[in-house]
Amino acid sequence: MDIQALKSKLDIFDIAKELGLQLDKTDKALCPFHNDKNPSLQFSKEKQICTCFSSNCNARTMDVVELVKKYKSLELPETLNWLQERANAVPDGRQGVTKENLSPQQTTDKTNYQNDFEQMKSSFVASSTARKYAESRVLDWKKLQIGYNAFKSSRFDYLRGCITFPLKNEKGDIVSLYGRSIRDNDKAKHYYTKNRSGLYPDYPSRATKKIILTESVIDTATLLNFKEITENYDLLSLYGTNGLTTEHIQALQKTEELSELILFFDGDQGGKEANQKHGKYLKSLFSETTIKIVQTPDGTDINELAQSHQSEIFTDLINKAESFFFSKETEENESKQEQSIENKKLESTQNTYKLDASHKYNLKYNTDTARYEIKGGIAKNGLDRLVISLHIINPETRKKSRVRLDLYEDKQVERVCTLHAIPQQYRSNIGQLLK
Ligand SMILES: [Zn+2]
Repeated sequence: MDIQALKSKLDIFDIAKELGLQLDKTDKALCPFHNDKNPSLQFSKEKQICTCFSSNCNARTMDVVELVKKYKSLELPETLNWLQERANAVPDGRQGVTKENLSPQQTTDKTNYQNDFEQMKSSFVASSTARKYAESRVLDWKKLQIGYNAFKSSRFDYLRGCITFPLKNEKGDIVSLYGRSIRDNDKAKHYYTKNRSGLYPDYPSRATKKIILTESVIDTATLLNFKEITENYDLLSLYGTNGLTTEHIQALQKTEELSELILFFDGDQGGKEANQKHGKYLKSLFSETTIKIVQTPDGTDINELAQSHQSEIFTDLINKAESFFFSKETEENESKQEQSIENKKLESTQNTYKLDASHKYNLKYNTDTARYEIKGGIAKNGLDRLVISLHIINPETRKKSRVRLDLYEDKQVERVCTLHAIPQQYRSNIGQLLK
């Protein structure tokens, strides 16, 4: 395809938005090619170009091809391929039409989310902030379907600054979106498009035998990274601990050979209550199915465990999941035992601090000044990196700080040790444990 024909199918305004540039009322944006404080990149709808008017900038005038090539640091053929994909995504006769101009009927049409999500996927790849966030949460964006909503459109304004995930109906169409805010200062983190429907990652097939329910989309997305899990289990995300919907139940009821329903919720009060509540309810509906409950280590969740561990921890925890019928009793016994062990430990270790390794996935170390807990234990394979999730709790204020620490990174360890005054002994204890 020649460049002119390609350009005629594209609108530089749409592409600019997709790149994450925000145009003001006078069609100016902050120039990404120099340190711009006042918008100096002027766009022209008529000429389909943009020009940076700053004397400190060598960007000058660009057409849509130049803009993308420069912005994404691509060679010309790659740039054209990228633009070609955008051109193909715009149905004929709709070029240059922005979301705001669509008729209300079109905007409420659920199947429209497909195109929106395709655009969000490109924005995700184009945004280093979004990619960095996903990487920090160990979400493999090359494998998963993740979007980023950088647009300022009336329709998705409330999803702005969110990475997005598609929720699908039984046919596999995207019928709504889940957004997780990646801005630190956002109080609310979870957003959905209006009239949420559909399931993540998709409807279980009729042949599903074992399925894991998690309490959040991110947790399910995390488990999708692991082949050992996806080869043996289907996955389905609830929308929070209170988000087991009729649609979830109906979808599960359509499976024909369901033998195991595994609840894998957070290791906190909310997660434990949800285990009881949903366990009971699901058992009443699926009497032929074994309901199992994963004992998630206290204070962690699936995503946090994945940040410091390999897939081994998940297969291990899932293999040890207990049938719902017995779990309540066992839980009580366990906590009694745990308490008496702790009491004994406390008596016997007055002033001689000792690492409590009685719980493989929650190593504890008490001193007079702080309580240290290594959440999820220590991954034993792949010892080329030794990343742990460390919680440091002030015994008086109960204030908790969380640290991700690579024990092989001496400087980082030293910094944290100094910061939190972790006794040297603590480190040598971890070394001993590994032997
Ligand atoms: Zn500039």
